[in-house]
Amino acid sequence: MLPKWHILFGALFTIVLYFALNVSFFHSLIFFFSSFLIDIDHCFYYVYRKKNFSFKRAYNWFLLLENKFYSLPKGKRRRYDYGFCIFHGIEVLLILLLLSLIPELSFFFFIFLGFLFHLVQDMLNAICKGGNPFMVLSIIYKITCGKYKINLEDRIENTSY
Ligand SMILES: [Zn+2]
Repeated sequence: MLPKWHILFGALFTIVLYFALNVSFFHSLIFFFSSFLIDIDHCFYYVYRKKNFSFKRAYNWFLLLENKFYSLPKGKRRRYDYGFCIFHGIEVLLILLLLSLIPELSFFFFIFLGFLFHLVQDMLNAICKGGNPFMVLSIIYKITCGKYKINLEDRIENTSY
């Protein structure tokens, strides 16, 4: 899902949190930024794979891979993977929720909410496009299944990203 949609939906729900649910301005802001900055893990993966620090290149690279992935026939998609995003998983949500139980770190609850809001959008997007929503849902699942998948990038010839 494109960042502009995550930012838009995140902003709309932030308005709901602040005005309708009386969440503080500080906590609403934490939610807003968490709802789309979670995608920074795409950049981490790009740096790991390409040893390059260009945000623009990382963005274009993932866009290219995602388009390639969804242009494959549905039956072939399950054989491919196109990236490992470390923040996209229920395991990270659990860690954030546990941290939020510490009184001094209670603001982590709003990072948890932002990440959860983002993951639901990513899962719905995967379902709508005919992808596998479990690849978004769990890091352990991704690692386990990833062993048997071919990295899509390795199949794209002459990529300049
Ligand atoms: Zn995402």
